[in-house]
Amino acid sequence: MARVYNFSPGPSALPLPVLEKVKAALPEYAETGMSVMEMSHRSAMYLDIIHDTEARLRALMHIPDSYAVLFLHGGATAQFASIPMNLMVNGVADYIDSGNFAHGAAGEAAKYGQVNIVASSRDDQYTYIPDWKGKLTPNADYLHITTNNTIYGTHYIELPEGSAPLVADMSSNILGEVYDVTKFGVIYAGAQKNIGPAGLCVLIVRRDLLGKAQPITPKIFNWATQADNESMLNTPNTFAIYVAGLCMEWLQQQGGVEAIAEVNKEKAALLYNFLDNSKLFKGTAQKEFRSVMNVTFVTGDKEKDAEFVKFAAQRGLVNVKGHRVVGGMRASIYNAMPIEGVKALIEAMKEFELKA
Ligand SMILES: *Cc1c(COP(=O)(O)O)cnc(C)c1O
Repeated sequence: MARVYNFSPGPSALPLPVLEKVKAALPEYAETGMSVMEMSHRSAMYLDIIHDTEARLRALMHIPDSYAVLFLHGGATAQFASIPMNLMVNGVADYIDSGNFAHGAAGEAAKYGQVNIVASSRDDQYTYIPDWKGKLTPNADYLHITTNNTIYGTHYIELPEGSAPLVADMSSNILGEVYDVTKFGVIYAGAQKNIGPAGLCVLIVRRDLLGKAQPITPKIFNWATQADNESMLNTPNTFAIYVAGLCMEWLQQQGGVEAIAEVNKEKAALLYNFLDNSKLFKGTAQKEFRSVMNVTFVTGDKEKDAEFVKFAAQRGLVNVKGHRVVGGMRASIYNAMPIEGVKALIEAMKEFELKA
């Protein structure tokens, strides 16, 4: 078997022990006579699985009972529309524009009410988190942020604090960094980066924010309806929820979010240290805001960038190509990327730099 080090931004590498567990449970899960894919979502055996996944997430993130946990469809992008539909009571929301996904979320919300872009780093290629201080709208229904900007490799080093509930797209750093859930009204994340397989969105919502949906809200997008039905208004993504639960079990075995967050910092520091001392490669995000999960860098020469991506792939270090809107390279080093993978990437960069 030849597993590569997969630096893909999403869908991303999963822990090997999880894949092996999934394999062992095919075609039969726990003496049920069938695989998880074939189970009724309403069967007792499946309810055990989804309840177990939720309990693990609650334990890992210390989610209090005053928050509901939902397993939804349509990835993070479906929530770009669901958020205004569920929360725009007065029809005004603040958005901080710190990257393409933040921009997309704001664009979608503008279809349902007034969106104030209170701060933006768009004109500077999103190389930093823009300053929101003193700019928030009084009485906004909510403030939306993207805690980690997957494409540009930046993250918030301080959370905005205002009177409006904080709504966070945490797709690319949920479970990879420590957050106090009680600072947020809503946290949501597409699963395919740091939770499990694609096609699933995990949403954590403070219960007092439920029940405010606009009348036009389709029931599949209505969080209160989903909470009342335990995410089973219709058939949820049963297999992805199961695999997500296995990833969470694995994460608990690693010591939980607090422990892996330290490893993640160490991984990122190795790469950034190398970049800061390299004559060829350099980081693209402003130092202060550098992401722990997505490390973006360039050589300054597009051809050399492309050459390096190939060079790395030949060494089993795949998917280091940057996002199409920014070019260059990006190493996505989520929880499942071992430190050995990061070290191997640095070795490849050193070698490339010597021959370049
Ligand atoms: C990947 C990503 C998305 C999009 O997720 P989908 O599940 O594909 O909808 C949204 N926001 C952020 C921050 C992401 O990294």
